[in-house]
Amino acid sequence: MVRPPREPLHQDVATRKGSGLSSTLFDFLLHHEKVPAERRIFVNRTLRMESIRYVGFDLDWTLADYERIPLERLTFELAVERLIVAHDYPEAIGQVEFRPSFPRRGLLIDKEAGTVLRMNRHRYVNLAYYGRTRLDRAELKRLYRYEPIRPSSERFYHLDSLFELPEGNLYAELIEMAARQDSEVELPSAWQIFDDVRAAIDWVHGGGALKSRVMAEPERYLKRDPEVALALLRLALGGRRLILLTNSDWSYANAVCGFLFDELLPGLGSWRNLFDLVLVDSGKPTFFRADREFRELDSTGNVVSSCHVPVWGGAFSRGSLGGLMELIGEPGEHVLYVGDHIYSDIVSSKIESTWRTALIVRELEGEIAQRKRLRDELKRGRELRSRLAELGHEMDHLRDVVFLYQQLLDSGIDIPTEPLQALIQRSRSITRRHRETLRAEGDWADQIGKQFDTYWGSFFKQGTSKTRFAAQLETYACLYTSRVSNFAYYGSNRYFRVVQDPMMHEIVDLANEE
Ligand SMILES: [Mg+2]
Repeated sequence: MVRPPREPLHQDVATRKGSGLSSTLFDFLLHHEKVPAERRIFVNRTLRMESIRYVGFDLDWTLADYERIPLERLTFELAVERLIVAHDYPEAIGQVEFRPSFPRRGLLIDKEAGTVLRMNRHRYVNLAYYGRTRLDRAELKRLYRYEPIRPSSERFYHLDSLFELPEGNLYAELIEMAARQDSEVELPSAWQIFDDVRAAIDWVHGGGALKSRVMAEPERYLKRDPEVALALLRLALGGRRLILLTNSDWSYANAVCGFLFDELLPGLGSWRNLFDLVLVDSGKPTFFRADREFRELDSTGNVVSSCHVPVWGGAFSRGSLGGLMELIGEPGEHVLYVGDHIYSDIVSSKIESTWRTALIVRELEGEIAQRKRLRDELKRGRELRSRLAELGHEMDHLRDVVFLYQQLLDSGIDIPTEPLQALIQRSRSITRRHRETLRAEGDWADQIGKQFDTYWGSFFKQGTSKTRFAAQLETYACLYTSRVSNFAYYGSNRYFRVVQDPMMHEIVDLANEE
């Protein structure tokens, strides 16, 4: 068994003098007491860090923050090249435009209709683009009939990871090219285009084309941030063990972590010193379900043996949750897993284990900054909706009163007729005000949505409803925050408390209605 000569990180920080790590962290803590709003950690489910003895981390888009635009552009261009070379697409598809602002996480591709769409938490499609054209209400109704869709069916594909955004971008561009009236480019069906784009993107990621370019020029595609290492050091205080659990293979993980962490802080040395266990090629979400052996790797990534249970200090590929939990030897609620993939990292670990979870949501910072800027407009929206609810209630009530009044008169019952006219007048007036308020609220929602994102609106909200991403985040992630480095701002034994978890009857200001 080959092990790198190292000591667990917590011994480094807590006891070793002269390494420089403790004093670097100490210096950071003295100067960073306050957490900026955009960098806060938000709590869906109360979590006492004191009870967390192990913290696992995903690598890509979690510990490793990429330069989004250069990486997406490279993925996009490599996939276009692949379509031409391996899938017989005409060279003219090289003219497709790279539009990084179009796709985002949480969207779906409808392979049959050729659309990229957004659905809410109740699975209703309320926004879709065919190529670059936003579908109008009639077209949405024709395609999706105002009924919940079945997102798990073959027809739909989820854009869940930031790695998948170029895929949504390229798909929409090819659909646009195929649909253009004056286009002389012959392209296959929408479903076939999807399959080809999927295969091309898979090749870009799996075939090594993208990885070799990132490894050759890491400074172009990756962000080296000392605060990430400081966050890991702070989490390790008191003897907590840190685990790297990634789907990337050894050579890529080693290259990326080497670039990100080697000698990043005085006394840190190799990136291996940050982790008590390194698990690569884990194949999440299969890792959480399968019963697979671990393969122990030497310092160059060669397999030297296999085992059911890994060993602290080593590096292993494949493996399973069962083997890891045998090594840990404690209940799963002592483990916190930090990842960015809502399904592979968070939903799967939550369903298959009792691990606690933290989701990294890069989109959060922009959303919070925008909410701060739009505070007054958002307040106006809440007022409009509250007014709309009041008017709607009054309108429906009056309609029933008028209806019953009319029925009583028609049946010949002897009651005065004068009040009926007044009730009809009042009902008409309320209906008119309701219609006006509804229009104002619709205009407001359009305006405010565009200020968050020109194509899709707010990342977390669709009108009054949550997006599907937001709903999953609330259900499965105990904590969520914009980046791993935010943990550097919190005490290692922080008690993350749920501040509020209100139900609707608690939010509505009933006091005003007394
Ligand atoms: Mg990831």
